Parts: sequence; C-alpha cells; structure tokens
Amino acid sequence: MPTRPQLDEARAILQRVYGFKAFRGLQEDVISDVLEGRDALAVLPTGGGKSLCYQIPALIRPGCAIVVSPLIALMSDQVDALKQVGVRAERLDSSMDFNARTEALNAAQRGEMDLLYVSPEGLGTGLAQRLAGMDVSLIAVDEAHCVSQWGHDFRPDYRALGRLRELFPGVPRLAVTATADTRTRDDILAQLQLTDPALHVASFDRPNLTLSAEPKGGGRTARVVQLVKARGGVSGIVYAATRKGTEDVAEALERAGIPALAYHAGLDAEVRSERQRRFLLEEGLVMCATVAFGMGVDKPDVRFVIHADPPKTLEAYWQEVGRAGRDGEPAEGIALYGPSDMARSLSWTHQGDAPEEVKRVQLTKTRQLFAFFNGDECRRGAVRRYFGEEKVEPCGVCDVCTAEPGQAHDATRWAQMAVSAVIRCGQKVGRGRLVLHLMGTTKDGFDEQLSTQSTFGVGKDLPKAGWDRVFDALLFDGMLAEGGDLMRPSIIVPDGEAARALFRGERTLMLREDVAAARKKPAKGRSVASAAAVADLSGRDQDLFDALRTWRTDTAKARGVPPYVIFHDRTLAEIARERPGSPDALRQISGVGEKKAQRYAEDVARIIAEAA
Ligand code: ADP
Ligand code: ZN
Repeated sequence: MPTRPQLDEARAILQRVYGFKAFRGLQEDVISDVLEGRDALAVLPTGGGKSLCYQIPALIRPGCAIVVSPLIALMSDQVDALKQVGVRAERLDSSMDFNARTEALNAAQRGEMDLLYVSPEGLGTGLAQRLAGMDVSLIAVDEAHCVSQWGHDFRPDYRALGRLRELFPGVPRLAVTATADTRTRDDILAQLQLTDPALHVASFDRPNLTLSAEPKGGGRTARVVQLVKARGGVSGIVYAATRKGTEDVAEALERAGIPALAYHAGLDAEVRSERQRRFLLEEGLVMCATVAFGMGVDKPDVRFVIHADPPKTLEAYWQEVGRAGRDGEPAEGIALYGPSDMARSLSWTHQGDAPEEVKRVQLTKTRQLFAFFNGDECRRGAVRRYFGEEKVEPCGVCDVCTAEPGQAHDATRWAQMAVSAVIRCGQKVGRGRLVLHLMGTTKDGFDEQLSTQSTFGVGKDLPKAGWDRVFDALLFDGMLAEGGDLMRPSIIVPDGEAARALFRGERTLMLREDVAAARKKPAKGRSVASAAAVADLSGRDQDLFDALRTWRTDTAKARGVPPYVIFHDRTLAEIARERPGSPDALRQISGVGEKKAQRYAEDVARIIAEAA
C-alpha cells in the first residue's frame, strides 16, 4: 500500500494543481498502485480521466516520468494543458528542433522536469538509452491498445515497448486504454511484459451520452444537415464511410451556414493536421471525417458524434461515439444506418481475403452491429452488455428508452406490393426506382417500360417515407436482398418460398410505426447538448457566461492553445453563477487550480464587474 501521506498528497495535488474536488471512478485505485511502484493496466472509458492516473504519481514520485503516446497532437495537447497548470512537461518528437530536445533532456537530467512525452518510434532511437541513465519516476503507455493486432489502431512500434522492462528495471509501468475486450487486454499485458500487474477495468457506462439510431431512408446528407443545425453552434464530428461522403456532408453543411471541414486519408498530411488543429482551436466547428480522424482527438467539448454511415463494429461505434462528451457534460451519439450498409459490409467481408475464422468473426460482428441499431433494447444498456457487463439498468434517455410504447402496425399489404414489384421488374431494379414505380412516377425511359407492369402505381397511397420504412424492414428481414453491383445494387427476392408465404398471408410484416402516416423525421427539438444546455443558466448569468466565453476565445488565441485548455464550459458556467469576488473565491470553482487562479483572477474579476 502507498503510505497514507502519499495518498493525501495525491488528493492535495488534485485540488491545488487541477482544481478538482474529488477523484473520479477508479483514478484513486490506479494512482495508489502506481505510487506503490506496481505495474498496472487501467481500462477506463473515454473521458474517464486516464491522464491524471500517471500525471499525479509523476508529481509525487522522485524523478521524471516518461509518457509514451502515439500521436504528436495528443502529446502537444497534454503538454499545453500541463504547462497551463504549472507542471513542468515537454514532449520529445521528431518535429522539434535539436536544441529544444537537448534542453528538455538536460532539464530532466537536472531533476527539473516532471513529465516527458515521447513517441514509441522516438524510443527506438538512442533516446531510450539516454533516458535510462536518468532518474525515472514511472513509465506510462497511453493508448496501450495500439500494441494489439486485435485492436483497430495497431502500431508496430508499440510492439517494441516490451523491452522497457529491461531498460528500466524497478520503474513502475502503467498502461492505459479505453479499449477493453479481453483479447486486447491480454495482448497488452503480454506485449508490454508487465510484471504482476494490477488490473483496473471500469464500467463502460457513459452516463452523459444520449444515444439514438435511425434508418437512413433517402436523403442522408440532408438529414445530417438537419440534425447538425438543430444542435446549433457546438463542436461535433460526422463520420462517413467514404472520402466523397465526408466532402459531400462538409459541403452541404457549409451551404447551410455551418462551419465544417472534411478529413480523410486522401488529403495531404499538412492539410489534415491543419484541419485537426482548427478543430481543436475553434469553437463550433464540425469535422466530417472517415475513421482516419479519431485517435488523438482529445477535444473534451465535442458535443455530438453523428454516424452518417454506420461504423464497422460495436467496438468501433463505442470508440467513435466516445469522442463526444469527454468533459462529462451532456453529449449525443446519433447513428444513421440502412440495410444496404449491412449488405455492403457483409459482402466486403465475404470477398475479402482474410482467413476463414477471421471472416466468421467479422460477419458475426456486422450482424450484431445491425441487430443493435435495428433492435429495441436500451442503446447504452445493449453496448454495456455486449462488453460483458451484467445487471445493466436501462439508461432512460436514449431513443429506445424514451419511445412511446407503441402498438405493432400490420404492414403486410405494403410488403406484398413491394415484393411483387420486385418480381415484376425482373429483380433488376434498384430500390429508388422501385419506390417510384410503386408510387406510379416515371423518371426516364427505363421506367416507362416497366410502367406497363401491373404493380405500377399500386402503392400511390403510401408516402415515400413509408415506402422507405417498408423496404428497410424487408431488407433487414431478409425477405428482400441486394444483389448485382455493390455500389448500385438491385433488389432481389432471395427466397421464393418466403415470398409465396407472404402472398398467401402466412407470413406478415409488423412494424412499430404506422407507415401510412410516416413522414420525414422532424429534427429533434431541443438538443440535449448545446453549450447553453451545458451551462443551464438564468438569463443574467447567461450574459456573463457569454462574455466569459468571448474572453476565453481571445485568451486562447493569444496563447495559441485551444479554449478548453484555459477553462471548460462547466467552469465558466460555475463562475457565471457564483461570481467569485476574490482570487480565493475563484479557487473554490471546480477546474480552477492555483496557477490558473493566479493567472486569470484579474481578468475574471473585471469581466464579472463589467457584467454587473
Ligand atoms: P481520458 O484520457 O480518459 O479520455 P482525460 O484524462 O483526458 O480522459 O480526462 C477527461 C477530462 O476529465 C479532462 O478534461 C480532465 O481534466 C477531466 N478530469 C479528469 N479527472 C477529473 C476529476 N477527478 N474531476 C474532475 N474532472 C476530471
Ligand atoms: Zn436507454
């Protein structure tokens, strides 16, 4: 056990340096192990406060801590934030000039440095030897799942970190990650060669996340714009499956007056890092990205993650959605999904050249993902159960938990029309044209040919949105399937026997909603995650809050750091409410440590006075 005074000191540092009142979740347990000098693996959800688990012991144990981090952006963010609270930290990476590196190393050698951030490949050079000659307090491996081939962020350089064990005998090593399946976990322990490690695995619950999922229907991009607009002026991420998808969405958002950027692997490295930098520095920017954007995006005030296309697996979903609301304030995850996404994903796996058993795992994961989206189990509850948690309570806020208890609606009649139209059109027509055909609309010559079929126009009583739901349901059900060209699939009837049972009325299609009354979804009224909702302030306090935010934007710009590095929204809101009249009173606000109180007390006092 670490000594009592050490834990007391940890608590004192939490308050004095960071301005936080109490440890969160497993933080104290992890810190206690590291203080004791023990190796440990901590699996904490995103936003769980992993960095404090090594930063605080680094401030208590003698010597300098080494933090291995996979991305320069991640390192520089943390180093910026640490400097703001008066901790002596630097990063050593290839982008720094020789003198700055030498200076940082010399300072560490003299015992004047608390933390040094390094990249795994940086450690591959002579650096490790040099560091081994110093007094090292602990080694932290951030994003430790990068070591595992099972994870989605595998980095070969991480594999070499096992040798830290020999290079730094007796120095405690702490691995932290938010990816928790047992295979990855075992891989981390084995690859990093942790000695008798303490294992800390937190719950996967993210109580501040409100989740929902909805079928795509037509007009996916328009729907995304509508959703983003309803969330007015906050930072968010929109994930799309393709490069073109990210650009389409970004353009549509820009046209709607919402600042947005596209991000994907097809852009130059410089463009990408510039866009990522802007996303961190500016407020209210929406990043439209492929999964190339993600790791290293430790922006705490991302208020929503929208999947314009579904993710690959539930693990990926949780990781991606988890980028919203790291600051613990309300945030949303909204996913759009459709049967063709599922079909495409399955067929890519089938066609891929992975070994059979890997394919089987992937196919199962795809089906589980779509069962989750299409299912009617509490969203957060379903994810937690998927990750092996037991006794999970429904969240009470997701789209499933808040849905009106619906009766089932019989849509068999519409299903029969749809399936016979598919047959009449020779199983050669795509979904969009089938709907037009059923509604009796001709678009071009091709449809005119088909307009002689008896199914032409039989479904004109059902609005397009209704037909979208019917086709979704039939495709998920397997009554219909997509065939032919992967990108422009035609709809087919895979099982003639099932179709005949449908026509005879032996098989039915029941839906949760009355498709005849189906309309385009309204934008959700009030977003749970606007800056104002975070603050929840009265009108007068709201004005002060806005003034403080303006001040924060200016200060951040002047210092060249992201606004949240100065103060979080929550901290500004508390200042607006409490109106602390002295530096001491300011220190009482959560998120205000000693250094920031000194540095900003005057500014804050002035803004409060001006607002009074
Ligand atoms: P993770 O790396 O686990 O996603 P971070 O270490 O970036 O999380 O922490 C997420 C946010 O929570 C940060 O803004 C951090 O300042 C804040 N935080 C961490 N620990 C606490 C705590 N004990 N009390 C209040 N806020 C905390
Ligand atoms: Zn729920």
